[in-house]
Amino acid sequence: MHEMSIALAVVGQVEEAAHAAGATAVRTVRLQVGELAGVVPDSLAFCFELACAGTVLDGARLETEPVAARARCAPCASEWPVGMPPDLCCPACGSAAAEMTAGRELRVTAVRWDEPTAPAAGAGSTDPTAETATEAVTVATTGRSRRTDPEER
Ligand SMILES: [Zn+2]
Repeated sequence: MHEMSIALAVVGQVEEAAHAAGATAVRTVRLQVGELAGVVPDSLAFCFELACAGTVLDGARLETEPVAARARCAPCASEWPVGMPPDLCCPACGSAAAEMTAGRELRVTAVRWDEPTAPAAGAGSTDPTAETATEAVTVATTGRSRRTDPEER
């Protein structure tokens, strides 16, 4: 199942980041879901719950943030929401040389977790409810929006 593999990927990556940060329990995971990612939100929520069971994410809440699909015209640089089904013909100049600029996202944008009261030496934030920047955590199924963190620990 598509949603299950996404849920497992998200949980795996958040788990890794949480362990690295010494987090004791993950509360919420915010995920950008592009309109073209082919994800059924209800199904993803269900799979996410299953994937979290028995991990540091057990009981975590999944907040999905829908991202509208957008395309950009290469010749005239205009940009438009493509809608569903996607309209890839430029409304300004009629060119079909469009490239997708948004809509395939499957990206964890924020994770909220609990940290132990005595954080490991050198840990940055000591605020237990601090929203952690997780730019580096990107589900590896997105292709063009994939990022790697040069400071990956
Ligand atoms: Zn155009």
